[in-house]
Amino acid sequence: MPEKHEHYMRAALIEAAAALKAGEFPVGVVLVADGEILVRASRRNSQAQSRNEIDHAEINALRILLSEHAQLEPSRVSVYSSMEPCLMCYSTLLLSGIRRFVWAYEDVMGGGTNLALQQLNPLYQAMQVELVASVLRQESLAIFQQFFREHDYWQDSLLSHYTLSQQLDKPLYQQVDRQLSGEPS
Ligand SMILES: [Zn+2]
Repeated sequence: MPEKHEHYMRAALIEAAAALKAGEFPVGVVLVADGEILVRASRRNSQAQSRNEIDHAEINALRILLSEHAQLEPSRVSVYSSMEPCLMCYSTLLLSGIRRFVWAYEDVMGGGTNLALQQLNPLYQAMQVELVASVLRQESLAIFQQFFREHDYWQDSLLSHYTLSQQLDKPLYQQVDRQLSGEPS
């Protein structure tokens, strides 16, 4: 259902745009169950003064889910990320029982979703995972290009070079920002 995917991804991109405005690495996430957005979250502590590689958007979203929806069956949850989840987030969500992942922009440097589960130990081999890539990719790409033009996090990395080399149909981040802000959440 591509329209549904786009609807939820737009909500994730609003979180990403807010993270960008706050100077954070612009990953936004929403968690959806039974057609309802239960959790909205974004990357925290990506800036130099308090930098860590724990407070990723998906981990922050999972913490909120566990505290506010503790009784929810995790297999009903879909993850919408503005960027492909990294290995830490992907495996943490898998271990938490979540099986559906949708993302906008591929992480060619640190994306973890091509992990070969069938080559791992039995717990992982049994996991049936649904992956959907490139939903509203251009909108997310615009946000990441803006980020890499302005910030030093992962500057001069494979990800920044790849991101800045990608063709953008909508050249101005501001257009995307306005478009996102105008959407009902
Ligand atoms: Zn991550």
